[in-house]
Amino acid sequence: MHGCVRERDIVARLGGDEFVILVEDTHLQISSTATRIAKRIHQKLQQPFQLAEHCIVMSVSIGIVLSNLEYTSHEALLRNADIAMYQAKSQGRGRYQIFQQGNEDNSQLSLEQDFYQALQMQALDIHYQPIIHLESRQLVGFEALARWFHPQKGFISPEVFIPLAEESQTIKQLDLFVLQAAIQNVQQWQADFGISLHLNVNFSAQHFYEAAFAETLYAVLESFHFPPEQLKVEITESILLTPSTQVKENIEKLKEMNIDLHIDDFGIGYSSLQYLQHFDVEVLKIDRSFITHLTTSEKHNKLVRSIITMSQIMGFKIIAEGIETQEQCELLASLGCTFGQGYLFSRPLAVKDIAAYIATSQSCLTVVN
Ligand code: C2E
Ligand code: CA
Ligand code: CA
Repeated sequence: MHGCVRERDIVARLGGDEFVILVEDTHLQISSTATRIAKRIHQKLQQPFQLAEHCIVMSVSIGIVLSNLEYTSHEALLRNADIAMYQAKSQGRGRYQIFQQGNEDNSQLSLEQDFYQALQMQALDIHYQPIIHLESRQLVGFEALARWFHPQKGFISPEVFIPLAEESQTIKQLDLFVLQAAIQNVQQWQADFGISLHLNVNFSAQHFYEAAFAETLYAVLESFHFPPEQLKVEITESILLTPSTQVKENIEKLKEMNIDLHIDDFGIGYSSLQYLQHFDVEVLKIDRSFITHLTTSEKHNKLVRSIITMSQIMGFKIIAEGIETQEQCELLASLGCTFGQGYLFSRPLAVKDIAAYIATSQSCLTVVN
């Protein structure tokens, strides 16, 4: 921030990738001071910089709120800065926006409130994407994916509402809702077709900071008589890098309870298999971005090959995400990738379409470990 703000301004990190700058000005030109600072920050960040061997170019979205005596709490001030920031974001990369009264209505905030209501009323849906054993092409189980159909705005992508739920702390409630509803669906399909299915559920990192997470999970499984071995908890790799003892304790407890961990979006974050040695992880899910370019980019091809080889040595199984072509599928199977998921097999399906899918899919593995 050097050279962007003045000595007397305050720069603070709010959490994650959000920062707050407090600009005090006794003049009435505060809005031009703020926009000048915003422009300077954009200019500075536009210049690429070197981080180890990488050349980094960053962009930032800036929301500006002008303080006045009507504000009685800092929360209200920050909330409006947040609204302006989201508006800046929605206009594209590297923009700034000044908050104006009346803008709240179409804002992130009202979406957040609508999401909260939908969650309380259990008005969210779940779609299920099949996970396939590549060599035999048999169905192994399903990944449960939350869906939100807004009564006025229509389909809202999880890419929009999941970050919103993370920020407003409703994500834990969402994940547990998905878990319970998905267990009941899976149990129904198992009974109807006489098969045994794995159930993959996405869990936010926030659960792992809760002392009672493992116990809560176990209580849910027990209340439905759902065998813990059939549940696969999907988490992203960044959580394993946290030094928190609470996180470690929860991971260990899940293992003791026979609940397997699957590392989601593997490869995009830290791409190091070494730290995984310290955790009892069953499966790595190679991120879709690597599979998309598998047959067209030498670099991605090499990377996937080395992830699979290393995983075999270290005893992890692999699920390749986002398989869209036969060519990708065959190459992955020949490399020793065990499982796959993607539009080639099926898009995520609504509950009403699952029975037909299971009935027409070649066969199901009854016991897969
Ligand atoms: P994810 O866990 O990586 O889920 C896979 C995403 O890739 C899904 O997007 C799925 O529809 C999409 N996908 C699967 N196969 C293909 C393919 O062949 N090609 C392409 N182009 N896309 C494919 P979706 O459903 O939009 O979910 C996005 C993300 O939202 C998920 O990514 C997950 O991180 C998160 N999410 C969804 N439901 C939940 C939930 O209940 N709890 C939590 N914590 N996160 C969730
Ligand atoms: Ca996932
Ligand atoms: Ca993923």
